[in-house]
Amino acid sequence: MTTPAAAAPAAPVAPAAPVAEPVLLLDEVTKCHPGGVTALDRVSLRVDAGELLAIVGPSGSGKSTLLHIMGTLDRPTTGTVRVSGHDVRTLRDRHLSALRARSLGFVFQHFHLTDGLDATENVATGLLYAGVPRRERRPLAQAALDRVGLAHRHAHLPQELSGGERQRVAIARALATRPALVLADEPTGALDAANGEAVLDLLVELNAQGTTIAVITHDRDIAARLPRRVELRDGRITDDVCEVSAV
Ligand code: ADP
Ligand code: MG
Repeated sequence: MTTPAAAAPAAPVAPAAPVAEPVLLLDEVTKCHPGGVTALDRVSLRVDAGELLAIVGPSGSGKSTLLHIMGTLDRPTTGTVRVSGHDVRTLRDRHLSALRARSLGFVFQHFHLTDGLDATENVATGLLYAGVPRRERRPLAQAALDRVGLAHRHAHLPQELSGGERQRVAIARALATRPALVLADEPTGALDAANGEAVLDLLVELNAQGTTIAVITHDRDIAARLPRRVELRDGRITDDVCEVSAV
């Protein structure tokens, strides 16, 4: 039987505005390390496409643990992690690796380049893991190197490059797959002041071109340069400040 209400013509409903999926969503994430240390205590964090944020805190505050969980390299003890909408807990290792290779880019303090491979090959390796066909890897790798200002260094080995240039290769590798989120762990930590400044400028520029970037740092001066700062202390987020950009 149909009730009059149900039979009434449906009122026109405006189509809902598409709600953009956050690139990363942590909900009440807790991580207890073996030995009973609670490194993260109910951390909730949302990162939207286009953001550039610092996660800043002193040594021991839980930054590395948080980076590993944001990067799906480690799983939380409790709580939920979503990367580009995928609940990490529901994915088998193989699918998680694929999601990581496609959606996340990593930049480390000590670059982590492969010694015997030139800059192009180092960047192309990241594309291999992301499943990019062989013939497309070199041109994409070279385009990524061009974006970080290394057009003249494609064929150089890591040992032929300065620290700042090595970090640019690592950034190119992180970018080449066009990941939803780049995670940079103390990206200027192994560089002198001038090269550190240049790498930070590059991250700001890449963000202005649309790359979403989270920088993990203990350095308040670096954090102060970024538009959003998430403060971590004793495994908890104690502050999350976003600058309203002037129009
Ligand atoms: P940060 O990177 O800010 O220095 P970490 O995430 O490395 O902080 O560490 C947070 C806390 O968790 C510290 O008390 C540290 O000793 C502990 N911790 C980190 N990793 C492990 C581990 N694998 N096993 C046991 N305790 C750990
Ligand atoms: Mg650390």
